[in-house]
Amino acid sequence: MRRLMCAMVWAAAIGVALLAGCSSVIVDSNLTRRQAVCENQPPDVSPDAQERLELVDVRYYGFDGKEHQGQVVINKGLAGDIRKVFAVILESRFPVASVLPVAHPEIQKKGLYGLSPNTNNTSAYVWRPVTGGRKPSMHSFGLAIDINPRQNPYIRGERVLPPGSRYDPAAPGTLTPDSPVVRAFKAMGWTWGGDWAALGLLDYMHFEKIPPDQEDWVRRRLVGGLKVDESAARRD
Ligand SMILES: [Zn+2]
Repeated sequence: MRRLMCAMVWAAAIGVALLAGCSSVIVDSNLTRRQAVCENQPPDVSPDAQERLELVDVRYYGFDGKEHQGQVVINKGLAGDIRKVFAVILESRFPVASVLPVAHPEIQKKGLYGLSPNTNNTSAYVWRPVTGGRKPSMHSFGLAIDINPRQNPYIRGERVLPPGSRYDPAAPGTLTPDSPVVRAFKAMGWTWGGDWAALGLLDYMHFEKIPPDQEDWVRRRLVGGLKVDESAARRD
């Protein structure tokens, strides 16, 4: 009996060790909510927009083929959707370059307030106006997310963001109408910027959604502009 117990303990220990080995994850971001939402913010950031933000831990495979942990700052009403989409991203092994809140030191190094176009970072909340305008972007309220900007650029006429990027539907990490990631977002009522040809632009990286119970709040918040320097802003 004692020998059997001993064998069971060893089997359990080996099982735990194997599980630990299988689930080794590279932690790229492990900020607190306060760090991710309140630090490194522009001076005119809206406290009532910040109050509605949630920090979500996500897992995904990087272009290095390894499993990573990142974090997304998103409106509380969309946190469940983001968890579901990242379950699809992980399961389908859709590669993602990095998923860091814009307040993360690695992003801040590249440009004040996370507004640099020279990153290939997947992020949702960032306090900024729409590209070329004063109206707040949906990103300002955590109601939009950009995925792999370099593989999925913003294209309007001659303007391409990030600069020098190219849309190649066959390249890994690229979003297309048939992508499981695009399908998952649309199934939950999100709009994809890759469908905006009729508006005269394509924003392949961009998904947005306004939860029905926040429509009035967003409409009120869209009145007026932001003080952020629009030359520093990236895209919608
Ligand atoms: Zn966007």
